[in-house]
Amino acid sequence: MHDSFDQQHIWHPYTSMTHPLPCYKVRTAHGAVIELEDGTQLIDGMSSWWCTIHGYNHPELNQAVQEQLQSMAHVMFGGLTHQPAIDLAKLLIEITPEPLDRIFYADSGSVAVEVALKMAVQYWHARGQAKKSNFVTTRSGYHGDTWNAMSVCDPVTGMHQIFGSSLPHRYFVPAPQSRFDGEWQPEDIQPLEQLLAEKHAQIAAMIIEPIVQGAGGMRFYHPEYLRQVRQLCDRYNILLILDEIATGFGRSGKLFACEHADISPDIICLGKALTGGYMTMSATLTTQHVADTISQGEAGVFMHGPTFMANPLACAVALKSTQLLLAQDWQARVQRIEQLLKSYLQPLKTLPQVADVRVLGAIGVVELQQPVDLASFQAECVRRGVWIRPFGKLVYVMPPFVISDEQLATLLTHMVEMIQVMGATA
Ligand code: PMP
Repeated sequence: MHDSFDQQHIWHPYTSMTHPLPCYKVRTAHGAVIELEDGTQLIDGMSSWWCTIHGYNHPELNQAVQEQLQSMAHVMFGGLTHQPAIDLAKLLIEITPEPLDRIFYADSGSVAVEVALKMAVQYWHARGQAKKSNFVTTRSGYHGDTWNAMSVCDPVTGMHQIFGSSLPHRYFVPAPQSRFDGEWQPEDIQPLEQLLAEKHAQIAAMIIEPIVQGAGGMRFYHPEYLRQVRQLCDRYNILLILDEIATGFGRSGKLFACEHADISPDIICLGKALTGGYMTMSATLTTQHVADTISQGEAGVFMHGPTFMANPLACAVALKSTQLLLAQDWQARVQRIEQLLKSYLQPLKTLPQVADVRVLGAIGVVELQQPVDLASFQAECVRRGVWIRPFGKLVYVMPPFVISDEQLATLLTHMVEMIQVMGATA
Protein backbone atom coordinates (compact mmCIF):
# COMPACT_ATOMS: atom_id res chain seq x y z
CA MET A 1 0.00 0.00 0.00
CA HIS A 2 3.01 2.29 0.50
CA ASP A 3 5.02 3.39 -2.52
CA SER A 4 8.80 3.36 -2.11
CA PHE A 5 9.44 5.97 -4.83
CA ASP A 6 6.95 8.25 -3.15
CA GLN A 7 8.62 7.67 0.22
CA GLN A 8 12.08 8.48 -1.09
CA HIS A 9 11.37 11.39 -3.40
CA ILE A 10 8.10 13.11 -2.70
CA TRP A 11 7.54 15.51 0.13
CA HIS A 12 4.14 15.34 1.83
CA PRO A 13 2.66 18.10 4.04
CA TYR A 14 4.75 18.69 7.15
CA THR A 15 6.78 15.48 6.81
CA SER A 16 10.37 14.36 7.08
CA MET A 17 12.28 13.10 4.04
CA THR A 18 14.40 10.81 6.20
CA HIS A 19 11.67 9.43 8.49
CA PRO A 20 8.48 9.84 6.48
CA LEU A 21 5.29 8.55 8.02
CA PRO A 22 3.47 6.03 5.85
CA CYS A 23 1.26 7.37 3.05
CA TYR A 24 -1.58 5.22 1.78
CA LYS A 25 -2.02 5.10 -1.97
CA VAL A 26 -5.50 6.07 -3.15
CA ARG A 27 -7.04 4.56 -6.26
CA THR A 28 -10.34 6.37 -6.34
CA ALA A 29 -12.82 8.25 -4.18
CA HIS A 30 -16.61 8.49 -4.38
CA GLY A 31 -19.05 10.35 -2.14
CA ALA A 32 -17.73 10.02 1.41
CA VAL A 33 -15.52 7.01 0.63
CA ILE A 34 -11.82 6.95 -0.23
CA GLU A 35 -10.67 3.68 -1.82
CA LEU A 36 -7.06 2.55 -1.48
CA GLU A 37 -5.09 0.71 -4.11
CA ASP A 38 -5.70 -2.67 -2.47
CA GLY A 39 -9.46 -2.06 -2.44
CA THR A 40 -9.71 -1.01 1.22
CA GLN A 41 -12.57 1.46 1.61
CA LEU A 42 -12.26 4.31 4.10
CA ILE A 43 -15.14 6.46 5.30
CA ASP A 44 -13.77 9.99 5.06
CA GLY A 45 -13.79 12.06 8.24
CA MET A 46 -11.61 14.88 6.92
CA SER A 47 -13.21 16.25 3.71
CA SER A 48 -9.60 16.46 2.50
CA TRP A 49 -9.00 19.26 5.01
CA TRP A 50 -12.37 21.08 4.94
CA CYS A 51 -12.79 21.02 1.14
CA THR A 52 -14.96 18.23 -0.26
CA ILE A 53 -18.32 19.27 1.17
CA HIS A 54 -20.23 17.43 -1.60
CA GLY A 55 -17.98 14.37 -1.45
CA TYR A 56 -15.64 12.99 -4.10
CA ASN A 57 -16.43 12.38 -7.74
CA HIS A 58 -19.71 14.27 -7.67
CA PRO A 59 -21.52 13.87 -11.03
CA GLU A 60 -22.60 17.52 -11.28
CA LEU A 61 -19.18 18.85 -10.34
CA ASN A 62 -17.53 16.45 -12.78
CA GLN A 63 -19.90 17.70 -15.45
CA ALA A 64 -19.13 21.34 -14.70
CA VAL A 65 -15.41 20.68 -15.20
CA GLN A 66 -16.00 18.64 -18.36
CA GLU A 67 -18.27 21.28 -19.89
CA GLN A 68 -15.80 24.03 -19.15
CA LEU A 69 -13.05 21.90 -20.66
CA GLN A 70 -14.90 21.98 -23.99
CA SER A 71 -14.38 25.74 -24.28
CA MET A 72 -11.08 26.33 -22.44
CA ALA A 73 -9.14 25.05 -19.47
CA HIS A 74 -7.31 28.29 -18.90
CA VAL A 75 -6.72 31.73 -20.25
CA MET A 76 -4.71 34.56 -18.73
CA PHE A 77 -6.75 37.08 -16.72
CA GLY A 78 -4.65 40.11 -17.66
CA GLY A 79 -6.60 41.95 -20.33
CA LEU A 80 -9.05 39.07 -20.74
CA THR A 81 -12.11 37.90 -18.83
CA HIS A 82 -14.65 35.09 -19.08
CA GLN A 83 -18.17 34.11 -18.05
CA PRO A 84 -17.25 31.61 -15.29
CA ALA A 85 -15.27 34.32 -13.44
CA ILE A 86 -18.15 36.79 -13.82
CA ASP A 87 -20.88 34.35 -12.77
CA LEU A 88 -18.91 33.16 -9.76
CA ALA A 89 -18.14 36.74 -8.68
CA LYS A 90 -21.84 37.67 -8.86
CA LEU A 91 -22.76 34.72 -6.67
CA LEU A 92 -19.98 35.24 -4.11
CA ILE A 93 -20.80 38.94 -3.83
CA GLU A 94 -24.46 38.02 -3.27
CA ILE A 95 -23.83 35.49 -0.50
CA THR A 96 -20.96 37.11 1.44
CA PRO A 97 -21.73 39.88 3.97
CA GLU A 98 -23.31 42.98 2.44
CA PRO A 99 -20.54 45.56 1.91
CA LEU A 100 -18.13 43.13 0.23
CA ASP A 101 -18.51 43.62 -3.50
CA ARG A 102 -15.03 43.76 -4.99
CA ILE A 103 -13.30 40.45 -5.61
CA PHE A 104 -9.76 39.24 -6.28
CA TYR A 105 -9.23 35.63 -7.36
CA ALA A 106 -6.05 33.81 -6.34
CA ASP A 107 -4.63 30.32 -6.31
CA SER A 108 -4.74 29.05 -2.75
CA GLY A 109 -5.78 29.94 0.75
CA SER A 110 -2.34 31.20 1.71
CA VAL A 111 -2.23 33.47 -1.33
CA ALA A 112 -5.71 34.83 -0.50
CA VAL A 113 -4.27 35.78 2.89
CA GLU A 114 -1.20 37.40 1.28
CA VAL A 115 -3.56 39.35 -0.98
CA ALA A 116 -5.67 40.49 1.98
CA LEU A 117 -2.60 41.67 3.90
CA LYS A 118 -1.31 43.52 0.85
CA MET A 119 -4.69 45.17 0.33
CA ALA A 120 -4.59 46.48 3.90
CA VAL A 121 -1.08 47.89 3.49
CA GLN A 122 -1.87 49.51 0.15
CA TYR A 123 -5.08 50.97 1.61
CA TRP A 124 -3.27 52.86 4.37
CA HIS A 125 -0.44 53.84 2.05
CA ALA A 126 -2.99 55.37 -0.30
CA ARG A 127 -4.47 57.28 2.61
CA GLY A 128 -1.08 58.81 3.40
CA GLN A 129 -0.56 56.66 6.49
CA ALA A 130 2.25 54.41 5.32
CA LYS A 131 3.30 53.76 8.93
CA LYS A 132 0.16 51.69 9.37
CA SER A 133 1.78 48.59 7.88
CA ASN A 134 1.88 45.95 10.60
CA PHE A 135 -0.77 43.43 11.69
CA VAL A 136 -2.35 42.18 14.87
CA THR A 137 -3.78 38.74 15.41
CA THR A 138 -4.58 36.25 18.15
CA ARG A 139 -2.52 33.30 19.28
CA SER A 140 -3.67 29.81 18.21
CA GLY A 141 -4.44 31.15 14.73
CA TYR A 142 -3.52 29.60 11.40
CA HIS A 143 -3.53 31.43 8.07
CA GLY A 144 -1.30 29.45 5.73
CA ASP A 145 2.32 28.57 5.04
CA THR A 146 3.57 31.39 2.79
CA TRP A 147 5.78 34.05 4.32
CA ASN A 148 3.37 36.71 5.50
CA ALA A 149 0.58 34.23 6.19
CA MET A 150 3.03 32.33 8.37
CA SER A 151 3.97 35.52 10.21
CA VAL A 152 0.39 35.77 11.53
CA CYS A 153 0.13 32.07 12.50
CA ASP A 154 0.53 31.09 16.13
CA PRO A 155 4.21 31.76 16.90
CA VAL A 156 4.65 28.50 18.84
CA THR A 157 2.85 25.98 16.62
CA GLY A 158 4.10 27.92 13.58
CA MET A 159 7.66 27.61 14.96
CA HIS A 160 8.50 31.27 14.41
CA GLN A 161 11.84 30.89 16.16
CA ILE A 162 13.13 28.68 13.32
CA PHE A 163 12.59 31.45 10.78
CA GLY A 164 14.07 34.02 13.12
CA SER A 165 14.61 37.52 11.85
CA SER A 166 13.57 36.61 8.32
CA LEU A 167 9.97 36.52 9.50
CA PRO A 168 8.25 39.88 10.01
CA HIS A 169 7.27 40.52 13.62
CA ARG A 170 3.55 40.90 14.21
CA TYR A 171 1.50 41.83 17.26
CA PHE A 172 -0.10 38.89 19.06
CA VAL A 173 -2.81 38.92 21.69
CA PRO A 174 -3.87 35.85 23.69
CA ALA A 175 -6.42 33.57 22.05
CA PRO A 176 -9.96 34.25 23.30
CA GLN A 177 -10.82 31.99 26.24
CA SER A 178 -14.62 32.37 26.23
CA ARG A 179 -16.01 29.27 24.60
CA PHE A 180 -18.56 29.44 21.81
CA ASP A 181 -21.21 27.78 23.98
CA GLY A 182 -20.04 29.21 27.31
CA GLU A 183 -20.30 32.46 29.24
CA TRP A 184 -18.79 35.59 27.72
CA GLN A 185 -15.86 36.75 29.85
CA PRO A 186 -15.46 40.51 29.28
CA GLU A 187 -11.76 40.44 30.24
CA ASP A 188 -11.11 38.38 27.07
CA ILE A 189 -11.05 41.49 24.92
CA GLN A 190 -8.82 43.58 27.21
CA PRO A 191 -5.41 42.62 25.76
CA LEU A 192 -6.56 43.62 22.28
CA GLU A 193 -8.06 46.87 23.54
CA GLN A 194 -4.82 47.75 25.31
CA LEU A 195 -2.65 46.82 22.34
CA LEU A 196 -4.72 48.82 19.87
CA ALA A 197 -4.75 51.84 22.18
CA GLU A 198 -0.94 51.79 22.19
CA LYS A 199 -0.04 50.59 18.72
CA HIS A 200 -2.88 51.49 16.37
CA ALA A 201 -0.73 54.01 14.51
CA GLN A 202 1.43 51.13 13.24
CA ILE A 203 -1.33 48.62 12.53
CA ALA A 204 -3.00 48.23 9.15
CA ALA A 205 -5.34 45.39 9.99
CA MET A 206 -6.39 42.71 12.39
CA ILE A 207 -6.56 39.23 10.87
CA ILE A 208 -8.53 36.46 12.56
CA GLU A 209 -10.38 33.25 11.79
CA PRO A 210 -14.00 33.93 12.73
CA ILE A 211 -15.36 31.72 15.58
CA VAL A 212 -13.36 28.60 14.61
CA GLN A 213 -9.60 28.61 15.09
CA GLY A 214 -8.65 25.70 12.83
CA ALA A 215 -5.18 24.26 12.36
CA GLY A 216 -3.86 26.41 15.25
CA GLY A 217 -5.84 24.45 17.84
CA MET A 218 -9.39 23.62 16.70
CA ARG A 219 -10.93 26.06 19.17
CA PHE A 220 -14.41 27.63 18.98
CA TYR A 221 -14.66 31.04 20.65
CA HIS A 222 -17.52 33.25 21.75
CA PRO A 223 -19.23 35.41 19.08
CA GLU A 224 -19.08 38.38 21.46
CA TYR A 225 -15.30 38.39 21.03
CA LEU A 226 -15.70 38.86 17.30
CA ARG A 227 -18.34 41.58 17.77
CA GLN A 228 -15.99 43.50 20.05
CA VAL A 229 -13.07 42.97 17.65
CA ARG A 230 -15.19 44.67 14.98
CA GLN A 231 -15.98 47.58 17.31
CA LEU A 232 -12.35 48.03 18.33
CA CYS A 233 -11.16 47.95 14.72
CA ASP A 234 -13.64 50.70 13.91
CA ARG A 235 -12.67 52.75 16.96
CA TYR A 236 -8.93 52.54 16.22
CA ASN A 237 -9.07 52.80 12.43
CA ILE A 238 -7.90 49.31 11.68
CA LEU A 239 -9.18 47.10 8.87
CA LEU A 240 -10.66 43.75 9.83
CA ILE A 241 -9.62 40.75 7.73
CA LEU A 242 -11.64 37.58 8.33
CA ASP A 243 -10.04 34.34 7.21
CA GLU A 244 -13.07 32.18 6.30
CA ILE A 245 -10.93 29.76 4.29
CA ALA A 246 -11.74 26.80 6.54
CA THR A 247 -15.12 27.97 7.87
CA GLY A 248 -16.79 29.23 4.71
CA PHE A 249 -19.60 27.41 2.90
CA GLY A 250 -21.60 26.08 5.83
CA ARG A 251 -19.04 24.18 7.91
CA SER A 252 -19.78 25.95 11.22
CA GLY A 253 -23.57 25.83 10.77
CA LYS A 254 -23.73 29.29 9.14
CA LEU A 255 -22.82 29.92 5.52
CA PHE A 256 -19.97 32.09 6.82
CA ALA A 257 -18.86 31.85 10.45
CA CYS A 258 -18.93 35.64 10.93
CA GLU A 259 -22.73 35.36 10.74
CA HIS A 260 -22.63 33.85 14.26
CA ALA A 261 -21.58 37.32 15.44
CA ASP A 262 -23.63 39.24 12.89
CA ILE A 263 -20.67 41.31 11.78
CA SER A 264 -18.96 41.89 8.47
CA PRO A 265 -15.27 42.42 7.77
CA ASP A 266 -13.51 44.90 5.50
CA ILE A 267 -11.78 42.01 3.75
CA ILE A 268 -12.70 38.31 3.65
CA CYS A 269 -10.64 35.33 2.45
CA LEU A 270 -12.33 32.28 0.94
CA GLY A 271 -10.79 29.02 -0.27
CA LYS A 272 -10.91 25.28 0.39
CA ALA A 273 -14.64 24.35 -0.03
CA LEU A 274 -14.98 27.16 -2.61
CA THR A 275 -14.42 24.63 -5.41
CA GLY A 276 -16.00 21.74 -3.50
CA GLY A 277 -12.46 20.43 -3.15
CA TYR A 278 -11.98 19.91 -6.89
CA MET A 279 -8.97 22.15 -7.34
CA THR A 280 -7.12 24.92 -5.67
CA MET A 281 -8.62 28.38 -5.87
CA SER A 282 -9.27 31.21 -3.46
CA ALA A 283 -10.91 34.60 -3.43
CA THR A 284 -10.35 37.75 -1.42
CA LEU A 285 -13.31 40.12 -1.31
CA THR A 286 -13.36 43.67 -0.04
CA THR A 287 -15.54 46.76 -0.01
CA GLN A 288 -15.82 49.39 -2.70
CA HIS A 289 -14.32 51.89 -0.26
CA VAL A 290 -11.15 49.82 0.28
CA ALA A 291 -10.85 48.96 -3.42
CA ASP A 292 -11.36 52.57 -4.54
CA THR A 293 -8.89 53.89 -2.00
CA ILE A 294 -6.21 51.42 -3.14
CA SER A 295 -6.88 52.39 -6.75
CA GLN A 296 -6.42 56.09 -5.95
CA GLY A 297 -3.05 55.46 -4.30
CA GLU A 298 0.44 56.05 -5.66
CA ALA A 299 0.59 52.72 -7.52
CA GLY A 300 -2.85 53.33 -9.02
CA VAL A 301 -3.42 49.59 -9.09
CA PHE A 302 -3.54 46.67 -6.70
CA MET A 303 -0.09 45.08 -6.88
CA HIS A 304 -0.85 41.41 -7.38
CA GLY A 305 -1.64 39.23 -10.40
CA PRO A 306 -1.14 35.46 -10.29
CA THR A 307 -0.62 33.44 -13.48
CA PHE A 308 -3.59 31.21 -12.76
CA MET A 309 -5.86 33.99 -11.52
CA ALA A 310 -9.55 33.07 -12.03
CA ASN A 311 -8.69 29.80 -13.75
CA PRO A 312 -11.85 29.00 -15.76
CA LEU A 313 -12.01 25.33 -14.72
CA ALA A 314 -11.78 26.34 -11.05
CA CYS A 315 -14.37 29.12 -11.48
CA ALA A 316 -16.79 26.77 -13.25
CA VAL A 317 -16.58 24.09 -10.59
CA ALA A 318 -16.70 26.67 -7.76
CA LEU A 319 -19.87 28.13 -9.26
CA LYS A 320 -21.49 24.70 -9.51
CA SER A 321 -20.37 23.68 -6.01
CA THR A 322 -21.77 26.85 -4.45
CA GLN A 323 -25.03 26.54 -6.40
CA LEU A 324 -25.31 22.92 -5.32
CA LEU A 325 -24.86 23.90 -1.68
CA LEU A 326 -27.42 26.71 -1.83
CA ALA A 327 -29.97 24.56 -3.66
CA GLN A 328 -30.22 22.09 -0.79
CA ASP A 329 -31.26 22.35 2.85
CA TRP A 330 -27.62 22.37 3.92
CA GLN A 331 -28.47 23.88 7.32
CA ALA A 332 -30.56 20.82 8.19
CA ARG A 333 -27.79 18.50 7.02
CA VAL A 334 -25.12 20.30 9.04
CA GLN A 335 -27.42 20.36 12.09
CA ARG A 336 -27.97 16.62 11.80
CA ILE A 337 -24.21 16.02 11.55
CA GLU A 338 -23.74 18.27 14.60
CA GLN A 339 -26.33 16.25 16.53
CA LEU A 340 -24.59 12.96 15.73
CA LEU A 341 -21.15 14.38 16.53
CA LYS A 342 -22.43 15.54 19.91
CA SER A 343 -24.16 12.29 20.78
CA TYR A 344 -21.09 10.16 19.99
CA LEU A 345 -18.28 12.42 21.12
CA GLN A 346 -19.58 14.27 24.20
CA PRO A 347 -19.65 11.13 26.42
CA LEU A 348 -15.85 10.89 25.91
CA LYS A 349 -15.46 13.95 28.17
CA THR A 350 -15.47 11.74 31.25
CA LEU A 351 -12.44 9.70 30.15
CA PRO A 352 -9.18 10.54 31.93
CA GLN A 353 -7.25 10.59 28.64
CA VAL A 354 -9.61 13.24 27.21
CA ALA A 355 -8.98 16.92 28.01
CA ASP A 356 -11.95 18.37 26.13
CA VAL A 357 -14.64 17.68 23.54
CA ARG A 358 -15.86 20.42 21.21
CA VAL A 359 -18.53 20.26 18.52
CA LEU A 360 -19.74 23.05 16.24
CA GLY A 361 -21.66 22.51 13.00
CA ALA A 362 -20.00 19.71 11.06
CA ILE A 363 -16.79 19.84 13.12
CA GLY A 364 -16.12 17.44 15.99
CA VAL A 365 -12.96 17.69 18.09
CA VAL A 366 -11.61 15.51 20.87
CA GLU A 367 -8.62 17.03 22.62
CA LEU A 368 -6.52 14.43 24.42
CA GLN A 369 -4.15 14.88 27.35
CA GLN A 370 -1.24 13.49 25.32
CA PRO A 371 -0.22 13.72 21.65
CA VAL A 372 -1.46 10.92 19.41
CA ASP A 373 0.99 8.50 17.81
CA LEU A 374 0.04 9.40 14.26
CA ALA A 375 1.46 6.38 12.41
CA SER A 376 -0.17 3.75 14.62
CA PHE A 377 -3.43 5.73 14.86
CA GLN A 378 -3.70 5.95 11.08
CA ALA A 379 -2.79 2.27 10.60
CA GLU A 380 -5.62 1.40 12.98
CA CYS A 381 -7.99 3.76 11.10
CA VAL A 382 -7.16 2.00 7.84
CA ARG A 383 -7.63 -1.41 9.47
CA ARG A 384 -11.08 -0.28 10.62
CA GLY A 385 -12.04 1.38 7.32
CA VAL A 386 -12.12 5.04 8.34
CA TRP A 387 -9.98 8.07 7.51
CA ILE A 388 -9.09 10.43 10.37
CA ARG A 389 -5.85 12.40 10.55
CA PRO A 390 -5.13 13.77 14.02
CA PHE A 391 -2.52 16.41 14.81
CA GLY A 392 -0.82 16.75 18.16
CA LYS A 393 -3.36 16.08 20.90
CA LEU A 394 -6.31 16.68 18.59
CA VAL A 395 -8.41 13.93 17.06
CA TYR A 396 -11.06 15.62 14.97
CA VAL A 397 -13.46 15.08 12.10
CA MET A 398 -15.16 17.40 9.63
CA PRO A 399 -16.88 14.99 7.23
CA PRO A 400 -18.31 15.76 3.80
CA PHE A 401 -21.91 17.00 4.16
CA VAL A 402 -23.02 14.10 1.91
CA ILE A 403 -21.92 11.49 4.44
CA SER A 404 -24.94 9.32 5.31
CA ASP A 405 -26.09 8.98 8.92
CA GLU A 406 -25.04 5.35 8.75
CA GLN A 407 -21.54 6.15 7.46
CA LEU A 408 -21.15 8.87 10.08
CA ALA A 409 -22.26 6.48 12.84
CA THR A 410 -19.66 3.95 11.69
CA LEU A 411 -16.95 6.60 11.49
CA LEU A 412 -17.73 7.91 14.97
CA THR A 413 -18.07 4.45 16.52
CA HIS A 414 -14.52 3.68 15.41
CA MET A 415 -13.23 7.07 16.50
CA VAL A 416 -14.78 6.61 19.94
CA GLU A 417 -13.45 3.05 20.33
CA MET A 418 -9.96 4.11 19.31
CA ILE A 419 -9.95 6.91 21.87
CA GLN A 420 -11.41 4.66 24.58
CA VAL A 421 -8.63 2.09 24.23
CA MET A 422 -5.89 4.70 24.38
CA GLY A 423 -6.03 4.68 28.16
CA ALA A 424 -5.00 7.50 30.44
CA THR A 425 -1.32 7.25 29.51
CA ALA A 426 -1.80 7.11 25.73
N1 PMP B 1 -6.36 29.91 6.37
C1 PMP B 1 -6.95 28.92 7.05
C2 PMP B 1 -7.92 29.26 8.14
C3 PMP B 1 -6.67 27.59 6.74
O1 PMP B 1 -7.24 26.60 7.43
C4 PMP B 1 -5.76 27.31 5.67
C5 PMP B 1 -5.41 25.89 5.26
N2 PMP B 1 -5.42 24.94 6.25
C6 PMP B 1 -5.17 28.39 4.99
C7 PMP B 1 -5.50 29.66 5.37
C8 PMP B 1 -4.18 28.15 3.88
O2 PMP B 1 -4.79 27.62 2.77
P1 PMP B 1 -3.92 26.83 1.65
O3 PMP B 1 -3.42 25.59 2.32
O4 PMP B 1 -4.91 26.58 0.55
O5 PMP B 1 -2.82 27.74 1.22
